[in-house]
Amino acid sequence: MKKIWLSPPHLSGNELQKIQEVFQENWIAPVGPQIGEFEARISKFLGGSNYQVAALNSGTSALHLALKLLNIEKGDIVLCQSLSFVASVNPVLYLGAKPVFVDSEKETYNLSPYFLEQAIKSQIEKGKKPKAIIAIHIYGMPYKVDEIQRISNKYDIPVIEDAAEAMGSQFKNKLCGSFGDLAIFSFNGNKIITTSAGGALVCKNEIQKEKAIFWATQSKEAASFYLHKEIGFNYRMSNVLAAIGISQIDVLKKRVEKKREIQQFYSSFLNEVEGFKVYTAASEDFYSNHWLTILEIDPEKSPISVIDLMKRLAEKNIETRRIWKPLHTQPVFSEFDFYGETIAEEIFEKGLCLPSGTAMTKADLQFIKTELLAAVKYA
Ligand SMILES: *Cc1c(COP(=O)(O)O)cnc(C)c1O
Repeated sequence: MKKIWLSPPHLSGNELQKIQEVFQENWIAPVGPQIGEFEARISKFLGGSNYQVAALNSGTSALHLALKLLNIEKGDIVLCQSLSFVASVNPVLYLGAKPVFVDSEKETYNLSPYFLEQAIKSQIEKGKKPKAIIAIHIYGMPYKVDEIQRISNKYDIPVIEDAAEAMGSQFKNKLCGSFGDLAIFSFNGNKIITTSAGGALVCKNEIQKEKAIFWATQSKEAASFYLHKEIGFNYRMSNVLAAIGISQIDVLKKRVEKKREIQQFYSSFLNEVEGFKVYTAASEDFYSNHWLTILEIDPEKSPISVIDLMKRLAEKNIETRRIWKPLHTQPVFSEFDFYGETIAEEIFEKGLCLPSGTAMTKADLQFIKTELLAAVKYA
């Protein structure tokens, strides 16, 4: 039986030719013309030279360098959305800084403006003003950009926009990745477009971009010998992978359309089931790329639990995943403050991510539909 994965890579078909060109020129290194071209393509996609892009080896390293650009140091406080993948917060710890976790609001699953402001006020009262906010468009759904920006402006705390899951998503017709003081994308294999592994940092000026690339290439000074005055990292994107990225960004628009069609498809029959609801945008302001379609299961009304549904589908070789477990409930982060209630935890309890690969055929989707409905019927 064929395995249906959650969100596997979907190649455009042009990648091999692009890689061949790179091989012919022997640019098999973390330097080469494709890196610059890929960066230029991302920058153009976002709207031009106001967005200065550094291609890196992961979204995680992009977040690490974003925090460094904001001078985050040991002991500093960084406000973080709890409902996310661990990569959103690990870089805070790399720097010895302290994450302070904030609950979600129900409409977008993202940072609750209310609890964000509570967290800021409380931390200031405790004697230390937070130095940055990491805001995330989780599962591709834009966060409440206006409200988060208002708080950022009011308290003069910069925003790092984690758009790892939201390339092609928009808030009020503006692309995600364009909002934060700094922003990041991920091109990991499971994301909407991929370079196998990779990421990008979006800066607002060239000085920031150059500093990020300097750190990403071992902080090598311009000298006739190897001279280093600062600690650096080996974070640059491989030129081979940048070649893949160029072919992938060509098809991004198509991928967004397909992801949205998949979400529509699931909605068309799952919303009919008692206790089921497919997660969707709260209003037209939020244009999600629906990186993953999420099914919300009301345990009081649904004929089947999240766990049992997962099991049933796994027996049919259909991969599903639970929602990100809120980070403030993770053992590794247990010592850090949290502001909120149980909204992120409730989202975690009731949500299930459904297969959302854009290369799925009509027959694949039909098969999933049949198995989903059978699981409900025979629960
Ligand atoms: C994937 C992801 C990252 C990290 O990206 P990598 O390229 O895997 O390092 C960061 N934040 C979120 C929300 C992600 O989903």
